[in-house]
Amino acid sequence: MHFDVLTIFPEALAGFISVGVLGQAIDNGLMSVDLHDLRDFTDDPHRVVDDRPYGGGPGMLLKVEPIVRGIEEISTRMKQRSYSKVLLSSQGRLFAQEDAINWAKLDGMLLICGRYEGVDERVVSFVDDEVSIGNYVLTGGEVAAGVIIEATARMLTGTVGRFESVESDSFYDKEHLGPPQYTRPPQFRGLSVPQVLLSGDHKRIEQFREEKAWEKTLHNRPDLVGLKQTKKSVSWPRDDLDSVETDG
Ligand code: SAH
Repeated sequence: MHFDVLTIFPEALAGFISVGVLGQAIDNGLMSVDLHDLRDFTDDPHRVVDDRPYGGGPGMLLKVEPIVRGIEEISTRMKQRSYSKVLLSSQGRLFAQEDAINWAKLDGMLLICGRYEGVDERVVSFVDDEVSIGNYVLTGGEVAAGVIIEATARMLTGTVGRFESVESDSFYDKEHLGPPQYTRPPQFRGLSVPQVLLSGDHKRIEQFREEKAWEKTLHNRPDLVGLKQTKKSVSWPRDDLDSVETDG
């Protein structure tokens, strides 16, 4: 799979994609990433990419022309292949695991990063999707592009060593979180690893994990099962579920 990123700070992602699972996937030829400098798509000597918003207001907006020229030039190279153009935006629909699963079936995607106060709204007419990674505002789309590249790359066959580890993760093909996990030492400052995990009894271990995965979901993410949370999640596991209320 091929990822293109259009940004005013290509260097912001260069280190991130070169290490760990992503770095290995690139070295092994499972994926490739091209970081494109938005300024290369300007047509003035000063390479200006931003301007003041019409109607007034603070800050600057990324201009429509360089972005659209970038989208057109970059996506032309992927003609005839399945390719999605996605604008990273605080005003987009929320990105989820299901998108990563679907996008991993594409030949490629272009991720367009805003900066400053965002991008000229007309950019939206030239993309396939406008996506947010959460209900908060970042200063630019680069970290969001990194999130999408990483989540999508994990869904490509071969990037993660054992696919069972992907299947048992939170959100993969299920409505609950993955189970809590432990490693050595068995005792740490009075906290012990649940005995059943040391028992070697695979059936009981599986049952225990399933149960704890649901408990943790109810505690930290009751919204996933249609409940709402009234209290901040501070500790887990806990004995009661008093802070969980049904919606309405
Ligand atoms: N003025 C905008 C915020 C712009 S933030 C507003 O009121 O919503 C600048 C850029 O950062 C955006 O264009 C977008 O590319 C990126 N960005 C900020 N928050 C984001 C989020 N939650 N998800 C994805 N991209 C985000």
